[in-house]
Amino acid sequence: MKFVVATNNQHKLEELREILGASGHTLLSLGESGFSGEIIEDGDSFEANARIKAQTVCKATGLPAIADDSGICVDALDGAPGIYSARYGAPECKSDADRRQLLLRNMEGKSDRNAHFACSIVCAFPNGDEISSYGECAGEIGFEERGDGGFGYDCIFVLDGRGLTLSEISAEEKNRVSHRAEAVKGLVGRLDRYLKGSW
Ligand code: IMP
Repeated sequence: MKFVVATNNQHKLEELREILGASGHTLLSLGESGFSGEIIEDGDSFEANARIKAQTVCKATGLPAIADDSGICVDALDGAPGIYSARYGAPECKSDADRRQLLLRNMEGKSDRNAHFACSIVCAFPNGDEISSYGECAGEIGFEERGDGGFGYDCIFVLDGRGLTLSEISAEEKNRVSHRAEAVKGLVGRLDRYLKGSW
């Protein structure tokens, strides 16, 4: 089946294409779908924001749309940056590098460095049906940036039990262990049942 992925984040699109690759579905980018509108993400949870993105793009294009809303949640910061991960420290912070440095500064002196990435995925269909899924990946905030892979906060997120950041493992491995991978796994199962009419 053909889906539009409701994101302007090229990294997310590539990861979703890679993880969903074996399922036989085709993922179109927003550009390929012809969508050029604006999406206002004003939900109060990952799931609410994923739903807003999926429904907006589904309504505009008439195609089933998949949206991922994700972010990093830090225990010692009461879950921040959470749903505000992409705009943490705005307007002063203008880049992923600025946001990572702000997070490292805000963690100075904190002994509890536990954190997790969270990902909600919503798939909206033109007939109003909807499928959703959620995934998490546990770890800790490191003390400095390490590794070259991935994007966003990957190079300061040390995976539980590995001592390696998400930027130090291969893209294939990230796509097996990440919050996005876990959410997609759930989505694929539900999608299969939905398409067979037994959801
Ligand atoms: P969204 O577009 O509002 O979902 O923004 C998600 C933000 O969370 C991204 O811009 C990244 O900063 C961060 N993020 C989400 N997933 C990942 C990931 O897999 N690695 C690193 N950062 C991520």
